Amino acid sequence: MKIFSIFGDPISHSRSPLMHNSVFKALGICACYSRTHLNNSSQLRDVFLAKKLSGANITVPHKEAAYAQCDEVRGIAKTIKAVNTIVYEKGKLIGYNTDADGFMSAIQSFGPIKNALILGAGGTARALSIALLRGEITPTILNRSPGRLDFFTKEGITAYCWDGFTAKDYDLIINTTSAGLSDEELPIPRPLLLELLSRSKGAVDVIYGKETPFLREIKVSGLPYKDGSDMLLAQGVLASYLFLGGEFALKTIEVPMKHSFNL
Ligand code: NDP
Repeated sequence: MKIFSIFGDPISHSRSPLMHNSVFKALGICACYSRTHLNNSSQLRDVFLAKKLSGANITVPHKEAAYAQCDEVRGIAKTIKAVNTIVYEKGKLIGYNTDADGFMSAIQSFGPIKNALILGAGGTARALSIALLRGEITPTILNRSPGRLDFFTKEGITAYCWDGFTAKDYDLIINTTSAGLSDEELPIPRPLLLELLSRSKGAVDVIYGKETPFLREIKVSGLPYKDGSDMLLAQGVLASYLFLGGEFALKTIEVPMKHSFNL
């Protein structure tokens, strides 16, 4: 039997086991997908190998560490320098990033977008900003602290921390911080958020499965919005395609994976 897992901290909220196990079951694949609670990023590779995994997904806060611990990184993950999917191939850990394409697929419903403000500067913000750039949408980063802004400025992306930022017009406001994931915090101070929302055309919270304080404010604003469910599905389909060695069409994977959202 092949074994897969998702690594993260926190991890109990993750829907990935249900999504991937539904695909394995529907396609008759002898495999099992579990959760691994990991608080020390530096142990990711050792735990992956000790558990004899065939593949894994990586979530908050380990995506940048996962990138550093892969033997090889392919595709857009090379630019993003953050990995959310690892496939064990001929004794090597091969890293990919499916968040980027998953997000772009999820925001199609907003129609044409010229620019976007990304709240946060972690692994997910990296993935989304590079994906937006490639889709000819100008990203701007706003993070609470300056420590992680270098990556963005080196890519030519304007990046601010709270000090020194003033609100402007953005087509889309995207929360990629973990504020609201396991607490009741907003990703930025409320007065600033309200001003940004009043000048925006839509908003996305990449967190899924709960109504975060950010999502509550968007609903009150009346803007078109999405939580992270569509992105979760799209990145999961792409990850499953990689886990299964490209043997099954994306649509064949998507149907049972989407069905698992109603379980
Ligand atoms: P990281 O740990 O890499 O980055 C977290 C970011 O959030 C950092 O910029 C951090 O700022 C900021 N942050 C954390 N807490 C707060 C707070 N209380 N207020 C303001 N900013 C805060 O996480 P990831 O990028 O891996 O993941 C971020 C979120 O995205 C998670 O909630 C995850 O569940 C979600 N996600 C959802 C996906 C989906 O498919 N729907 C896919 C991928 C991620 P600082 O630098 O100052 O510490």
